[in-house]
Amino acid sequence: MSKDKQEMFTSTCCYCGVGCGVQIKIENKGVISVRGDQDHPVNRGMLCSKGLNLQYTVNDKSDRLLYPQMRYNKNMPLQRTSWDLALDRTVAVFKTFIEKYGPDSVAFYASGQCLTEEYYVINKLMKGFIGSNNIDTNSRLCMSSAVTAYKMTLGEDSVPICYDDIELADCFLVTGANPAWCHPILWRRIEAHKSANPQAKIIVVDPRVTDSCSLADLHLQINPGTDVVLNYAIGRVLIETNQIDRDFIHDHTEGFEAYKQRVFEKSVYEAAIICGVEEDSIRLAAEYIGGAKGFLSMWTMGLNQSAIGVNKNLSLINLNLITGKIGKPGCGPFSLTGQPNAMGGREVGGLANLLPAHRDLSNDTHRKEVQKFWGGTTISGKTGLTATEMFEALHNGQLKAIWILCTNPMTSLPNARFAEEALKKAKFVIVQEITNKAQTLPYADVILPAAAWAEKEGTMTNSERRVSHLHKILDPPGEALPDAEIICRFAKKMGYKGFDYTNPADIYKEHTKLTAKTNISVDGLDYELIDSCKTVQWPFQKRKGIGTVRLFTDHLFHTKSQKANIHSPVDVLTSELPDSQFPFILTTGRIRDHWHTMSKTGKVSKLKQHIKEAFLEINLADADRLHIKDDQIVCVQSRRGKVQVKARVTDSIKPGVVFLPMHWGKELGSDLHRTNNLTSSFLDPLSKEPDFKYCAVHIAPF
Ligand code: SF4
Repeated sequence: MSKDKQEMFTSTCCYCGVGCGVQIKIENKGVISVRGDQDHPVNRGMLCSKGLNLQYTVNDKSDRLLYPQMRYNKNMPLQRTSWDLALDRTVAVFKTFIEKYGPDSVAFYASGQCLTEEYYVINKLMKGFIGSNNIDTNSRLCMSSAVTAYKMTLGEDSVPICYDDIELADCFLVTGANPAWCHPILWRRIEAHKSANPQAKIIVVDPRVTDSCSLADLHLQINPGTDVVLNYAIGRVLIETNQIDRDFIHDHTEGFEAYKQRVFEKSVYEAAIICGVEEDSIRLAAEYIGGAKGFLSMWTMGLNQSAIGVNKNLSLINLNLITGKIGKPGCGPFSLTGQPNAMGGREVGGLANLLPAHRDLSNDTHRKEVQKFWGGTTISGKTGLTATEMFEALHNGQLKAIWILCTNPMTSLPNARFAEEALKKAKFVIVQEITNKAQTLPYADVILPAAAWAEKEGTMTNSERRVSHLHKILDPPGEALPDAEIICRFAKKMGYKGFDYTNPADIYKEHTKLTAKTNISVDGLDYELIDSCKTVQWPFQKRKGIGTVRLFTDHLFHTKSQKANIHSPVDVLTSELPDSQFPFILTTGRIRDHWHTMSKTGKVSKLKQHIKEAFLEINLADADRLHIKDDQIVCVQSRRGKVQVKARVTDSIKPGVVFLPMHWGKELGSDLHRTNNLTSSFLDPLSKEPDFKYCAVHIAPF
C-alpha cells in the first residue's frame, strides 16, 4: 500500500515525462500538500517549480467543471443536464453519423496526459468496436518523430537508456532541448554529475542561448533546421578520425556504407557554413563524443517538431550507432518525453497508426490478434486521421463529430485559427474536461466534467519506461467522473460488450495480458506489484519478478535481422522558408514555470512570477534595424495570422530568428497572444508531427 498511517499517499507528478515521485498528504477535507518523494528512484525527493506547486492546482477548484452540460443546437446556450441524458444524446448522434457516413465520420482527440487505462479504453472503443482508427492524441505534436525514428533504427519504439545512465556518462549531446527549464529534475542530476566530474563534457545545440547552455562545455548555436547537416558533419569527423566502433558497426548494424557516402557529400567546412557555426566547434563536438566512454544523446522538441523531424532523429541516433554507444552503461539515445504519459499511450496503441503493445496497424496478423482478444468488430487496416488531419477533415466536412478530452487544441495546434474554424464547422463536438477555461468549450455540444490528477487511479510510464501507479486521493468535485469511467459508460450505452470493468485495476490487467510475449511485456504486473516495487521499468521479466533497466545490452535489436538500421536521408529542409515578405524564422517553445496551455499552471500565482506575459525574443541587431526597443509592443505576422506581444531584445538568439513561448492562447476573447496563429500546417511526412520550430514571419513595431 502506498498510503501510510499518517495519510501520506504516493503518486507521480502529472506534468513532464521525467516522472518525479511525489508524496501527498491530505491536510483538510479536499485540501492536499505535496512534496518530493525521497525514496523515488527518479527525483530522490527533488521537485521543480511546477511539481512543487502541484497542490495549488488541485486545491483551487474555482474553475472546475462540475456537471454535464448540453445543447440541442449551436444557437442554444449550454445547459446543465444529467450524465444519462448527456451520454444518451452522444450515443444517438454517434450512431446516426456512423450509420449514415460510416465509422470514419467520428473521431477522438486525446492527450499524453491521459492515464494508460484511459488511453486503453478509448483505443479499444474506437478501433475495436466503433471500427475506425480515428483516435489520435496531442502526443502527435510531441514525440511522434522520435517514435518513428526509433522504429526505423531499433525496430521498436523503445527508449534504450535508464536515468541512472546519467551518472555513468561522460559526454552529453543535448540538442533541440532546454532541459534546464523543461526537464529540470533530470538537469539537476546532470548538474550534480558534472559538478562531481568536471571532465564530463556537455554539448548543447540550440539556436538560442538557453539556461541549459550555462553548463555547456560547447554551445553550437546552429541556424534553425540545420540539425541533420550538423549531425552528418559530426558523423563525418568521427569516421575521418577513426573514432567509430567498426566491430559494432559490422556485427550489429546495417546501412553504414550508404551513411558514409552521405556524410561525405559535404565537407565539414561546408556544413559549418550552412549551420552557422565554427568548423572547429563541429570537430570539437566529435572529439568529445568519440573520446567518451559513456555517450548520451538527449533531445526533445527541437528535433521532433519539424517538417524533417524523423530525419533529424535518425541523424542523431546514428551517432550512437556508429560509435557503438548504445546498450552499454552511460550510453544511448535518450529522447526526453514531453508529456507525463505519452509513453503509456503508445504502449496501448493510442495513436491513429498503432495497436496495443506496439503492434502495427498495417499488419494483418497483429490486427487479428487484437480483434480476437477484444472480441469486437473487424479492426480496419486504414490509418486513422492524425491530430491536425482531424481538424482538416472537420473543416472539409469529411469528419462530422469529434470528442476532445484532456487537451486544449485551440491553443496547442499549429495554424490555430484554421483549427478554430474547423471546430466551428463541426457538426457535433464533445469536450471532456476538468476546467471551465478550456478554449474548446464555446464550440461544444456536450460538455463532460472529468476528474483531475489525484482524483482518479491509474498508471503512467515516464521517459525511461518506468511504470508508476497513481492513487486516487480525493473525490472529484461535483459530478465529475474519471475519464475511463466516462468512456466505459458511453461504450456500454452504445451496446458494446467488454467495458464492464469494476475498477481501473481490471483495465490495467487486461492491458498487461495483451502485452504478453511482446518486446514491451508487462504481463504479470498489477497495481500491488508496482506498489511493492515502487515503480517498474518495462519489459517486466515475469519469471524473475523484475523490470529491465537498460535495453539492447545483447546488441540484438528488434528488427528482422536483429541489426540496427543506419538510415541516411537527405539533409534538405522542407519547412516554410523566409522570403522578402516574411524574412524572419519563428521558433517556439516552453518557458520554465508553465505547462502547455496553462490550464493548470496558469492558476498558480507563484508560477506566473517568473515570466508574466507572452513575449517575442529578437536579436539586438534585428531590433535596432527595425527600430524596436525592449518592452515595445511588436506585431508578428505570418501567412496565417498575427500576434501582438512585447519585444524582448537580446543577443541570446541568432540574428534572423525570433522566439515565442507556446503557452498563451485566447484571453478575454482576443487571440493576439496566441503563438499558434502563426505556425504552419507543414508536417513531417512520416511522423505527421507539425513544424512548430520553423515558419516564416514578418516583424514590425506596433
Ligand atoms: Fe514534475 Fe517534470 Fe518537474 Fe519532475 S521535472 S517535478 S515530473 S514537471
